[in-house]
Amino acid sequence: MRITMIGAGYVGLVSGACFSDFGHDVTCVDLDQKKIERLERGQIPIYEPGLETLVAENAKAGRLSFTTDLASAVSGADVVFIAVGTPSRRGDGHADLSFVHAAAADIAKALDGFTVIVTKSTVPVGTGDDVERIIAQTRPDADFVVVSNPEFLREGAAIEDFKRPDRIVVGLEDQRARPVMEEVYRPLYLNQSPLMFTGRRTAELIKYAANGFLAMKITFINEMADLCEKAGGDVQAVARGIGLDNRIGSKFLNAGPGYGGSCFPKDTLALVKTGQDFDAPLRLIETTVAVNDHRKRAMGRKVISACGGDVRGKTIGILGLTFKPNTDDMRDAPSIAIIQALRDAGAIVRAYDPEGMEAAKTVLEGVQYAKDAYDAANGADCLVLVTEWNQFRSLDLKRVKQAMTAPVLVDLRNVYRRHEVEAAGLSYVSVGRAQDV
Ligand code: NAD
Repeated sequence: MRITMIGAGYVGLVSGACFSDFGHDVTCVDLDQKKIERLERGQIPIYEPGLETLVAENAKAGRLSFTTDLASAVSGADVVFIAVGTPSRRGDGHADLSFVHAAAADIAKALDGFTVIVTKSTVPVGTGDDVERIIAQTRPDADFVVVSNPEFLREGAAIEDFKRPDRIVVGLEDQRARPVMEEVYRPLYLNQSPLMFTGRRTAELIKYAANGFLAMKITFINEMADLCEKAGGDVQAVARGIGLDNRIGSKFLNAGPGYGGSCFPKDTLALVKTGQDFDAPLRLIETTVAVNDHRKRAMGRKVISACGGDVRGKTIGILGLTFKPNTDDMRDAPSIAIIQALRDAGAIVRAYDPEGMEAAKTVLEGVQYAKDAYDAANGADCLVLVTEWNQFRSLDLKRVKQAMTAPVLVDLRNVYRRHEVEAAGLSYVSVGRAQDV
């Protein structure tokens, strides 16, 4: 199969590399010339475990190549995936489809022979119809089918997720695409990953329903954490107590500073807008969005209160900036709102992240960057664990205490236990754990 991937970002690059690893002949296209030049030199523009090796091996085998020339990459392809960004539209929170629409128009001009065009980007219900219309208007003679194939990979575990998905969802209206998509995913299909065929609109809705539900689950346990703190409970035990019930499941029940990242914030917002447009409001998701927005700044206030109610002129050390470990992605990371709240209150912020500091510099102002966790603790009046990178899980707490001006640890990921932190001479604040754990 000759596959062309439009957009070589977190999803496009991982999917393209994995498809080439399945044995397909893949060309990744991106508008960003610098990104393509780096990829051609074997440099990976993002941090994703295992990706560098996967790209290098498949590029060397001649199955994976990179270009900015969309037309030549599309004209020879059997399948063209659209994996461009769909950020929130400024002002109203709808998904901004301008990149998808532009890609569709560019693809249309270059089509040659029967081609299956697949939207992998997360797009609101009905976008497949738009893509089909744009292509048909641009090239009335083109022979093509538009399919929806949403992606469910998680950054930080993207390759494993792509190669061992819980399911593959393929939404189509024209059965000619079915054998083509079966062939694209054959290695996974043989591996018994369920390949689920639905209508195109249903597939588009499945992606938003999944992200909406997961965001709601996180938000639920976060509110339970607040109740545990006030009523005297331990949210981790509550999470385990409900998670062992198979109807609920144990995943996505870790209380923390609120969800962030490149998907949940924008996708929940877009789902709310879609519901309103169709006069079918999704009130649970509306509330999820509101509760989560409030929570991120509330975490800043939690730190301030751990510092005695005033942080003006105080130094706050921050451990972890990315929205989760094992990525360099800073999009909508909770650290941004937390740091903003601390800076608004007059704090000096000193942060360290293993992979996210370059990206952080483009979205955070006035932050000092440390060279490691102990350097972030150096001279700090409070140390806040925001992202649970592995290297923050087993800190030498005595060394941390010695480095700090005032020994306060705020653990927003519940990585530590109170007694071990207090034994090292630090005071300890965590999330949703009123009881001594
Ligand atoms: P990204 O911003 O990392 O990558 C998008 C890339 O597309 C960029 O490199 C950009 O230069 C390129 N691009 C934009 N318009 C183009 C065009 N016309 N031609 C060629 N290249 C073009 O975004 P991402 O995180 O990979 O997300 C892509 C889509 O996948 C989004 O819809 C997102 O919601 C969805 N998604 C993301 C994840 C994730 O974990 N990041 C998971 C599942 C789904």
